[in-house]
Amino acid sequence: MLFTSPIYTQSEYIYILGNTQDAGMPHIGCKHKFCLDNFNTFEEYYVTSIAVVNSDLNKYILFEATPDITYQLNYLKDNIFQEFLLPEALYITHAHIGHYTGLMYFGREALGSKNLLVKVLPKMSNFLKTNGPWSQLVSLNNIQIQNTKFDISNLELSNIEVIPIQVPHRDEYSETAGYVIKGENKKALFIPDIDKWEKWDKNLIELVENFDYLLLDATFYDSMEINRDISEIPHPLVSETIHLLNSLSKENKSRVYFIHMNHTNPMLNPNSDLSKSIINKGFNIARLGQKLYL
Ligand SMILES: [Zn+2]
Ligand SMILES: [Zn+2]
Repeated sequence: MLFTSPIYTQSEYIYILGNTQDAGMPHIGCKHKFCLDNFNTFEEYYVTSIAVVNSDLNKYILFEATPDITYQLNYLKDNIFQEFLLPEALYITHAHIGHYTGLMYFGREALGSKNLLVKVLPKMSNFLKTNGPWSQLVSLNNIQIQNTKFDISNLELSNIEVIPIQVPHRDEYSETAGYVIKGENKKALFIPDIDKWEKWDKNLIELVENFDYLLLDATFYDSMEINRDISEIPHPLVSETIHLLNSLSKENKSRVYFIHMNHTNPMLNPNSDLSKSIINKGFNIARLGQKLYL
């Protein structure tokens, strides 16, 4: 009997929908050239978000509801589905503005969705249910919240596993999740925000050896970028992350995709010297429209 197993390699992939820090590009009030140019040229820089697409099923799940979600779902329509589709499920990492405020576009004043499935951890769930305007999305059934748990797998799109894992971060309103995304062949890790690698109970080098794709917090390249006390807004500096991973082979380095870049980080501009030098070292930088096959 001829038995052919389905081949999922080309039909399931992570699709990059944005790579900037929460406040986006251009950035409010910013006078630097890259921001000013982007007020005028409408380059497509969106806040960090990824979709996981199954093109056989013509379905997807979404990670993060960003302030740019209107454009990001349109980007999916134009480039993938040729029609406007809502995600089968929406996962959110935490309650900082770039990661969840796009939920407002599902409400009464905007799309008015029906029972859009939003999967979040318990503290985030409670935050949404008990604070307006998010609570109105719940009471009007625009969204339906389902609680997830750290380290417990969720099955999506027939064979994708999504596992939230705990990440140390400024947890004012919610816990902070990273996500493990397992496909038929490949495994990805999505960590858009984390305080410092040292504060985590996981070893970054081991993670790089264990995952095929690592989408990692690249908010700042170095501490000189902003005129603020950087200890108030801790992130692993990209310069530190690169130093930490320096001993890895080029093949292993190529698994790292830097994402969630602040408007001050020259890595946002693909033509900057810094972007080129990071690519030369063997690392990748997440860009809108990239596909990472699972
Ligand atoms: Zn963020
Ligand atoms: Zn700027």
